Amino acid sequence: MIAEVLVEYNAKSIDKSFFYLIPSSLKNKITKGMKVKVPFGNKLINGFVINITNEQPHNYELKSIDSIVDDFLILNDELLLIGNYLQEKTLCTKITAYQTMLPSNLKIKDKHHNLIKYDIYISLNSSVEQVRSFINNNKRKIKQNEILTILLQKKQVLKKDYASNALNELIKNKLVKEEYIQKYRLEHHKNQDLIPPKLTIEQEKAVNKIYSYANKSKTILLHGVTGSGKTEVYMNLIEKVIKDGRNCLLLIPEITLTAQIVNRFYDRFGNIVAIFHSALSDGEKQDEYQKILNNQIKIVIGTRSAIFTPLTNIGIIIIDEEHSETYKQDSNPRYHALDIAIFRSNYHNCPLVLGSATPSLETMARAKKGVYELVTLNNRVGISSLPNITLVDMSLEMRKRNPIISSILKEKIIDRLNKKEQIILLLNRRGYSTTISCQNCGYVYKCPHCDISLTYHKSSNNLRCHYCGYTILKPLKCPSCHEEALNYLGLGTEKLENELVKMFPTARVVRMDTDTTSQKGSHEKIITKFKNQEYDILLGTQMISKGLDFPNATLAGIINGDASLNIPDFRSSERTFSLLTQAAGRAGRANVPGEVIIQTYNPNNYTLNCVKNQNYEQFYNYEMKIRKKLSYPPYYYLVSIKVISKDYELAQKESQHVANYLQNHLENTTIILGPTTAAIFRKNNTYRFQILIKYKYDSKLYKTLKELDNIFVYLKNVYIEIDLNPNNI
Ligand code: ADP
Ligand code: ZN
Repeated sequence: MIAEVLVEYNAKSIDKSFFYLIPSSLKNKITKGMKVKVPFGNKLINGFVINITNEQPHNYELKSIDSIVDDFLILNDELLLIGNYLQEKTLCTKITAYQTMLPSNLKIKDKHHNLIKYDIYISLNSSVEQVRSFINNNKRKIKQNEILTILLQKKQVLKKDYASNALNELIKNKLVKEEYIQKYRLEHHKNQDLIPPKLTIEQEKAVNKIYSYANKSKTILLHGVTGSGKTEVYMNLIEKVIKDGRNCLLLIPEITLTAQIVNRFYDRFGNIVAIFHSALSDGEKQDEYQKILNNQIKIVIGTRSAIFTPLTNIGIIIIDEEHSETYKQDSNPRYHALDIAIFRSNYHNCPLVLGSATPSLETMARAKKGVYELVTLNNRVGISSLPNITLVDMSLEMRKRNPIISSILKEKIIDRLNKKEQIILLLNRRGYSTTISCQNCGYVYKCPHCDISLTYHKSSNNLRCHYCGYTILKPLKCPSCHEEALNYLGLGTEKLENELVKMFPTARVVRMDTDTTSQKGSHEKIITKFKNQEYDILLGTQMISKGLDFPNATLAGIINGDASLNIPDFRSSERTFSLLTQAAGRAGRANVPGEVIIQTYNPNNYTLNCVKNQNYEQFYNYEMKIRKKLSYPPYYYLVSIKVISKDYELAQKESQHVANYLQNHLENTTIILGPTTAAIFRKNNTYRFQILIKYKYDSKLYKTLKELDNIFVYLKNVYIEIDLNPNNI
């Protein structure tokens, strides 16, 4: 027998398979999709068996497979197909695709076998008669007899509860035997007292509509306002699918959300749930994987890479908060979990549900065109209504010397503190460092051609559009209010915390950002303590904006509503709308109505007013017009190409070559912008230039990009990064 093996050799030029003999010692043990060790050059390397044949492919003498690396982690037929698809979609190497689909700890070769934990049980090793006669004949061996009597009743008990010399004696004499039974680190049981709420009419309709697609590969957008009970809809669908004998896959955006959602699922479904996210230990990950392979799992919940779990017989796939950018991987292979989900929905003939209060424009556009089915939840559950939102003009507050907390927000915080209600403050820290804005009036420079904020380059003291290259010198005065207040400093969470402590000395304040949550479990701790009302004010970055449910929080304050608007990216309005809508949704989810204060220098900004009106449609229609006018998604597809080198001149020269190459090889309806400096121009001492492709339909695109990629394999000291449908450009 001969195996075709794709070797794990990390050079693009060797993304190939080679043939090896299967030695007789491994015959019948090696299967397709298995990871093996093979001789390559003068060493042994890993590879995946992608085919097994009887035919000798050529006349050379074949080497033999050395050994099996892993006999439980096998790429099944579906995963092998997904690997091909991933390679096509993202232009990555096939070996990268395969590696990506396996949990990362399992790349630490061979070691993982020690990760399995066992419990040792004891049971009788001889017939009941023999045991009885032993007891009768050895009346003085009291301890041994005690153990035997218990085993006669209970059959199997944990060894550690009976560890003793007496037990050792029994084992030695073969009256009792030990059994190693795998023990899982994460064990959760159903909450037997839980009575699931009766669905509202709206929820019930949504469940029925979506369930009408059971056994069909249909994508459905579930658009439901914050607090409309989407999670409850998911759980009901999952219940039905499990009753039908099929399994469920639920993706969630990030770890902060997991604690609350996952606990709801554990309570409702117990130990048929497996979870996957990056904060699991290697052993936990391994255990969860084992449970799936042992067919013990009916529901997998996880972040992006959980889309690759080898769950079989899938009856529904759900992507919660589908607009979240975490579903697109930022490094090679740059895949989007949604694409893989669509692939699997086709493979298993099952519906794919995309849930969000603020769907991405791409998804909503597809739903409106009828590509996806649209199901809507317009109302919050119960009597809780959407919160009241106020925009506060911070340029007026600046004059009143309230640069951080406006007088109205201060007043409301004091009011809530008096009423013993809780407050959530969001400080968006992303993106202020590379753009400049006027500290007096909030003015931000934008590119006249691309409608994105210009990026400040310190070395040349100019402002540049990193899409098209438009450049101006940084002026001294703000062109709008003529003050010398063009600044690019931001406020940090730590400074805000100090400010709050000074302003409200009796308030108990807790901060949640990447600094305070670096330890495992620290998210959950902060969230639980806040929920138990051990704190009055929770302040944090975008981490706190999503998915959390705090019934006693009745006030949300957005400290710098503009921060994300000013990020130089065509999606910044969409992100702002989504972020602020989610954050606003944190307030007043129980029966006390909520209130939201958004502080901004741009109180007339359209996006912020859509947030204020809680009107997704209004935002969608407005933003779609801009996207159309400037040829952005969803009207055009984007590809971003970065040319990267430590050598400035080389990067510049090669990026120009790339642009020329694309001009010559792509269709003339395709728009090519650049090269220009990338948003982050210098990173780790490399220079990065960017070319942007905008296309509607281009039959030559994939072929051209692949060729381009291949050319760079052979160039020295310069690299290329191709990102199809990038998150950020
Ligand atoms: P979303 O995911 O849309 O933000 P959730 O599913 O988290 O909404 O629901 C918000 C809150 O309402 C939760 O506390 C949930 O338990 C509760 N809830 C959902 N559906 C119902 C229902 N039919 N009856 C009573 N409470 C419900
Ligand atoms: Zn521009």
